[in-house]
Amino acid sequence: MGKLILFVLAAILVYLFFKSSKRRSGPRGGAENPRERAPERMVVCAHCGVHLPESEAVRQAERFFCCDEHRRLGG
Ligand SMILES: [Zn+2]
Repeated sequence: MGKLILFVLAAILVYLFFKSSKRRSGPRGGAENPRERAPERMVVCAHCGVHLPESEAVRQAERFFCCDEHRRLGG
């Protein structure tokens, strides 16, 4: 009897999984591009410690800063 319950639970989980995955890619249509949607690398400002995406950070050598001012101050 226990096995039957496990089987039913597994079936429900699979059903819910497919239902939710269908919803996600449904309305927008088309295949999602995993490369485009990949989360950007986060860096920490070496001066004030704020987290920001690497593309918005000011880089100096191996260190990152949130703005040009902090780059000058925290160098
Ligand atoms: Zn900063």
